[in-house]
Amino acid sequence: MAGILQKIFGDGNQRQLKRLQKIVDNIEALESEYEKLPDQELQNKTEEFKTRYEDGESLDDLLVEAYAVVREGSKRVLGMRPFQTQLMGAIALHEGNIAEMKTGEGKTLASTMPAYLNAISGKGVHIITVNDYLASRDAKEMGVLYEFLGLTVGLNGNGLSKEEKREAYQCDITYGTNNEFGFDYLRDNMVLYKEQMVQRSLNFAIIDEVDSILIDEARTPLIISGSAKKSANLYQQANAFVNTLSKDDYSYDEKTKGVQLTEEGINKAERYFAVENLFDLKHVSLTHHINQALKAHVSMHRDDDYVVEDGEVIIVDQFTGRLMKGRRYSDGLHQAIEAKEGLQIQNESMTLASITFQNFFRMYNKLAGMTGTAKTEEEEFRNIYNMDVIAIPTNKPVIREDKPDLIYKTMEGKFKAVIEEIKRRHETGQPVLVGTVAVETSELISKMLKRAGIKHEVLNAKNHFREAEIIENAGQRGSVTIATNMAGRGTDIKLGEGVVELGGLAVIGTERHESRRIDNQLRGRSGRQGDPGVSQFYLSMEDELMRRFGSDNLRSMMDRLGMDDSQPIESKMVSRAVESAQKRVEGNNFDARKTVLAYDDVLREQREIIYKQRFEVIEADDELREIVENMILSTVERVVTAHTQDDDEDNWDYPSIVEFVQGNLLNADQVTEDDLKGKDQEEIIEWIMDKVKARYDEKEQELTKEQMREFEKVIVLRTVDTKWMDHIDQMDQLRQGIHLRAYGQNDPLREYQLEGFAMFEEMIKSIEEEVSKYIMKAEIRDNLQRQEVVKNTQAISGGQEEKKKTRKPFVKKQDIGRNDPCPCGSGKKYKNCHGR
Ligand code: ADP
Ligand code: MG
Repeated sequence: MAGILQKIFGDGNQRQLKRLQKIVDNIEALESEYEKLPDQELQNKTEEFKTRYEDGESLDDLLVEAYAVVREGSKRVLGMRPFQTQLMGAIALHEGNIAEMKTGEGKTLASTMPAYLNAISGKGVHIITVNDYLASRDAKEMGVLYEFLGLTVGLNGNGLSKEEKREAYQCDITYGTNNEFGFDYLRDNMVLYKEQMVQRSLNFAIIDEVDSILIDEARTPLIISGSAKKSANLYQQANAFVNTLSKDDYSYDEKTKGVQLTEEGINKAERYFAVENLFDLKHVSLTHHINQALKAHVSMHRDDDYVVEDGEVIIVDQFTGRLMKGRRYSDGLHQAIEAKEGLQIQNESMTLASITFQNFFRMYNKLAGMTGTAKTEEEEFRNIYNMDVIAIPTNKPVIREDKPDLIYKTMEGKFKAVIEEIKRRHETGQPVLVGTVAVETSELISKMLKRAGIKHEVLNAKNHFREAEIIENAGQRGSVTIATNMAGRGTDIKLGEGVVELGGLAVIGTERHESRRIDNQLRGRSGRQGDPGVSQFYLSMEDELMRRFGSDNLRSMMDRLGMDDSQPIESKMVSRAVESAQKRVEGNNFDARKTVLAYDDVLREQREIIYKQRFEVIEADDELREIVENMILSTVERVVTAHTQDDDEDNWDYPSIVEFVQGNLLNADQVTEDDLKGKDQEEIIEWIMDKVKARYDEKEQELTKEQMREFEKVIVLRTVDTKWMDHIDQMDQLRQGIHLRAYGQNDPLREYQLEGFAMFEEMIKSIEEEVSKYIMKAEIRDNLQRQEVVKNTQAISGGQEEKKKTRKPFVKKQDIGRNDPCPCGSGKKYKNCHGR
């Protein structure tokens, strides 16, 4: 026996199974005792476990007893006694691994045990399914068991209200699809009030059909997109306005490339746009557009900073003179330049938030998965998710006959043979499942079957509810079902009466999929739980996989054999060649997924910084002022340093500093050049900050303290969100364009990391500046007008208990520890990369 196992599963796996078997034996040993417990006492166990957990026992300590309780509960309310193999899988899941259990082995029931055990901690368990149908089916069917044992179960679905979602997430165990959980995460990080969030922290996820979610869907990230609020129109108006200005209307700082309207300019703008106060919060967007138009006109020079080519504005790298194709200036500057040059204004900010499944699921404290097919992707699961694949033996031996491939010369010959085979089996009453790689193939076969007068059903992964129904019938006598390989995943095909005698379900594959895993899925539809069954693949030399990857060797061999179209060959050598082609494609796809991940990692570091700090702002009360003051300090430091570089104080650029401070922080009469002269850098900064703080106090007194805090919150969140969304959109465009840059031996990923990091720093600078300006310059009158908002927000933060943590300044460079990973995503420590 051991020898056979070793052959099948390999050494490591066998050792794992041995270990699991020991734990299983312990669970089995408790059966006679638990069987005698009346329902009430069995149910009391849940509370007992919770108490023991609180008192310091670990979940691992509780596993044996907890699983025995679930098994007993399942016997009583579901009428199913979990098999030993299910217990094994259940343990592997609790350990954060992938349990490879074949179709029909009962993964749904197996997962209730780790779900129950981990729910004891009260931190929530998510069970992730590939579609809504499976989520609601499993939540409903398994819910009976959980509820019997005193746990709550929620179903997280598309179209639930925020309240309903929050309720579902508050449950001990929550079922739902990968998309829904991922989107909720992104949406939660876009809210303005803590109360609008729905998720708790991500604790433990069990992913069903894990290969489908973490492998097949890994190349398409989740994206929340929206059209930008800023309209092309406003860019044109701002551009037209700036065209009317003369030199006295704005000031320009060569060093920082900062441009701003002077008192006169502001008056002109207010007249031009017929607004009373340009700094009113109502006009944030207008001021922004004017500022960018100004910048475009005054500081950006055609053929120096950028060129115009084929109706597009292309940035010129300031150091190398290269054209930075695909890259756009952020924050609306690119659009402003387009307006200035009379070009069409490109769409702005389509991506508001995005994340890959890889990075979403890696945020869970613990991750587990189950599927019938994972071994072929073992390496990927281990490298990327740190999960081992443990192949669990089937409860009963698999007796399905997997016949060797049949290879035809042409597709036509192949399909003819497939139809013949379906006909032959159908005449005996044996149910047939025909698997296809593409929807078009399904349709073709359907047409041919119609002509042959054979009744059948077609599935192609569009309507999951109806499909589940069809697939359930696919095992009935006389049924013929055509399905693409994704269709009906997760729904078990049970054999109808008398079908065992007919040989069980016959699976016919009409093509090999790129990935062996998907072929195995199709095969595994037959022969569940010891049922008889048969599977065979029909291939042709014209199949996509053979054309792309079949070797010349193979082709010449076929020719030598002088194949004619009706005669298939059945050859080990061909099957091996097919398999090696599949391995090659799998390798390529793995690389593609690694690349997607490497790119998303750059954004992930940034996303985590922003989301974390954003959440701190949402939660903050009294610390808010400190956060804002720190942002002002950064800004002041930057400006002062930029203008006091010269060794000789006489050459310091006092006018520029004064201009900036007047324009952004203080009133014109509050700062003059004489105030700054005779001081060193630090003293200047300190002097300005003292004034700023005094002015801040004044403003705070004119409002109430609470109103000031809400005001700060509104300003910070709005600024961060606008800039951040703009930033990720820039990153998106940078990424799409980066490989267009065909110069030298540049590694596009490296380029992306470096530029992405520079853009991030730039964004933070501009967040700090903009917040400083709005906090200091917005007038009291406006705040009073905003009282509605203030009131609303107040009710919310009023409900929060004090958080006495000390707040760090908002997204400052210092937040990154020297040993933290560098936000550029290089994977190096910060101190060895950008923090050097
Ligand atoms: P999988 O997800 O592994 O393909 P399912 O969880 O869909 O399998 O279960 C397949 C079928 O087996 C279901 O109808 C389920 O009710 C049944 N089943 C699972 N476990 C047991 C058990 N221990 N005893 C009897 N039937 C079971
Ligand atoms: Mg399943």
